[in-house]
Amino acid sequence: MQQKKKLSLATQIFIALVLAIVVGLLMGDYYDFANAYIKPFGTIFLNLIKFIVVPIVLFSIMCGIISMKDVRKVGSIGLKTVAYYMCTTAVAIVIGLAGGNLFKGMFPAIATTDLAYEAAESTSLMETVVNIFPSNFISPMVNANMLQIIVMALLIGFAIVSVGEKNVTVVNAFNDLNEIFMKCMEMILKLSPVGVFCLLCPVIAENGPAIIGSLAMVLLTAYICYFVHALVVYSLTVGTLGGLSPVKFFKGMMPAILFAFSSASSVGTLPLNMECTQKLGASREVSSFVLPLGATINMDGTAIYQGVCAIFIAACYGIELTLPQMLTIVLTATLASIGTAGVPGAGMVMLAMVLTSVGLPVDGIALVAGVDRIFDMGRTTVNITGDACCSIIVSNMEKKREAGR
Ligand code: ASP
Repeated sequence: MQQKKKLSLATQIFIALVLAIVVGLLMGDYYDFANAYIKPFGTIFLNLIKFIVVPIVLFSIMCGIISMKDVRKVGSIGLKTVAYYMCTTAVAIVIGLAGGNLFKGMFPAIATTDLAYEAAESTSLMETVVNIFPSNFISPMVNANMLQIIVMALLIGFAIVSVGEKNVTVVNAFNDLNEIFMKCMEMILKLSPVGVFCLLCPVIAENGPAIIGSLAMVLLTAYICYFVHALVVYSLTVGTLGGLSPVKFFKGMMPAILFAFSSASSVGTLPLNMECTQKLGASREVSSFVLPLGATINMDGTAIYQGVCAIFIAACYGIELTLPQMLTIVLTATLASIGTAGVPGAGMVMLAMVLTSVGLPVDGIALVAGVDRIFDMGRTTVNITGDACCSIIVSNMEKKREAGR
């Protein structure tokens, strides 16, 4: 009997994506139906992802540190990771600002007189820093506060390594738990084609071609910058520092890229990202440390989006941004992207911080809020590709360092 050939997860996700767009466009007039009966299944899927993400980040960072067995090695990997994340984010925002300025002339002139945007209570920079550190053992996990979870994982991970040989039982238990949660995640990921369809279809049905029309140029600018950043920065770095051909890299990353595009959540894409990068040759110990960190602090796509939107909003208000103002944007957008949670829509909230830093009216966010999801799909894709690129590079560097010893 002929065996039925099983479609790969990437192909299944791709089919779901195309189906969601087609069905979404056909359902334009019935978006209420899509919202009421299709979206909830997408929400269930997203909930399952959110459920698994806290233990995955906590245990994979801890186990990543434990497996390195050496505090200095963690330091060396950590330093390379953070350096890569910071530099690429700064480049991303420069690309965003350059793209914004280049296409400014083609942006639509939208009246700003009756705009109102209620910014969520924005926190100051120092408050943001203070909030990274947990004051309670349980609450970071209950509230899924990823930065606090990273601090917890680092502290406990380092403590386990420092205590050393004595605590084999704990080490084994943590490794076993890590494996169990990974298995759990694998099960949830099997549902992703359905999840992707149910998440995307209502978005397309609701936004349709009409709303995209008026902001098409701004969206196009952001997407051009996303592509430029991915093709130039990631191809170059993964090719030279990572020792991997960019074509192979993007091909291997396809399942994660498609998933990020349709889910608009870096954190949700984390499990799939781990799978893809490990298949591409990243070591498990590096990717289980670098990726969860990146899903929380490294957001190149978000930085690009903030640059493009800042220029667009300034143009709508007839404000010409000066060079020092743009430099301020580079700094604040880099920080804002660290503070952005890897969930849908988070980058738009942080845009308020960037606009305020150069005295642009926060109400301007209302101009882009309607199509935020479409910006978000692209920026999340860039965000996770940057994380993957870093894990390949750091992994390659570590392998070389070890071979050279
Ligand atoms: N949705 C993005 C992400 O998960 C964050 C953002 O809104 O910019 O990476």
